[in-house]
Amino acid sequence: MTEDERLAKNIRIREQGKLTRKKRKRQICRVYRVKIDISHLNKAQKTHLKMIFVEAKWLYNDALTFMNDHDINDYDMKVQIVKGLDKDKKPVTHELKYLGSQMKQSVIQGIKHNLQSLASLKKHNHKVGSLRYKSDYNSINLKQHKVTYRFYDEKHIGLQGFNGHIKIKGANQFWNIPGIEFANAKLLSLPDGYYLAITTYCNKGGEQKNYKPEIGIDMGIKTTITTSDGRKIKVLIEESERIKKCQRLIARRKKGSSNRYKAVKLLRKAYQKLDSRKRDKANKIVHELLEHEKIYMQDENLRGWHKGLFGRTVQHSILGLVKSKLMENERVTVLSSNIPTTKYCPCCGKLKKDINLSDRIYKCECGYQEDRDIHAARNMILLSKNTCGTQEINAFGENVRQHKSQDLCCNLDELGSPRLYKRGVVHSSSSSSFL
Ligand SMILES: [Zn+2]
Repeated sequence: MTEDERLAKNIRIREQGKLTRKKRKRQICRVYRVKIDISHLNKAQKTHLKMIFVEAKWLYNDALTFMNDHDINDYDMKVQIVKGLDKDKKPVTHELKYLGSQMKQSVIQGIKHNLQSLASLKKHNHKVGSLRYKSDYNSINLKQHKVTYRFYDEKHIGLQGFNGHIKIKGANQFWNIPGIEFANAKLLSLPDGYYLAITTYCNKGGEQKNYKPEIGIDMGIKTTITTSDGRKIKVLIEESERIKKCQRLIARRKKGSSNRYKAVKLLRKAYQKLDSRKRDKANKIVHELLEHEKIYMQDENLRGWHKGLFGRTVQHSILGLVKSKLMENERVTVLSSNIPTTKYCPCCGKLKKDINLSDRIYKCECGYQEDRDIHAARNMILLSKNTCGTQEINAFGENVRQHKSQDLCCNLDELGSPRLYKRGVVHSSSSSSFL
């Protein structure tokens, strides 16, 4: 390729990028995960899949070594032979046979990206270390559909440099969506197998839904989400017996032995299962809540809630997961945490000051009384309407305007002026939420 051709190509890529970004604004980004079925692969193909991750690790570690006395931007992306250390820390060289060119690029790109985020942390006075060598690499970015990976049909995909088709499970999640476009994907090596997390775009739906009426939700201190229509949804998931068994097994095995390694693998698998259960439950709860036209919730500090003792069984709360999923939706309004949803009485408008965490029922002097959580959830609808007449949303989808309402002003001023903001949909081209 001559210099002129190269420049012309760069311009073409840039123009294409602009067009795509313009188009993406009208689309919804979703990430789907499909599982790779390795039972139909032959031995060479299985090795290939495994070696992609091993070689990515070699390349990553080699680039880190290179960075000791060079600039990462000078690293040769077309490198074929990399240096490393073997089990006994003796220097060896590895040949990269399986890693495609775009995969190499994205490994190096990943390092650059990590360096950038470390630098920005440092800028904000956080304590940062340096990048570390990896003992395993488990996520490879496949940058382009039809280059690094491609769909042959609903059940088969191909990878760059891979001989033959790979069978996948789960493409029915998105295969029949009209006008769906595939962006980048991530090849994941998880404890129970290989997965492909595909970023997709489809047009914003014109489907008119019959939504249920608006709802307020109160995230309970420990275990439940309470809705303004009186539902209480449990958000705790108990750790399985299997995890405990695996932990005991590891404790009995000798350090460094292959039996211990096998036990660790089992434990990872068990934890992944727990993770899937959590994600599944969170998805179901969010789906149920999003059947309502408008959802009001409060921006509460979830940290510190987990400090309390749950007794002997270890339990995992999915409250944080539910919250972050809800906040991505444009129909969800998040109220600032200094709006007194618990203290405010909807009947007489007074603020009750002496209310403890242990009071489960809200009682007002005027005779009004209600379950504390339901009361708070109902107040969220009420107070969000009173404090925000009109909503102004800035370019980031956030409303940070200070609201002062007529009838609440006097009461709320005692607690500082309330802030209310709304989150829009955040479009992101990466599927980093999976990692
Ligand atoms: Zn009252």
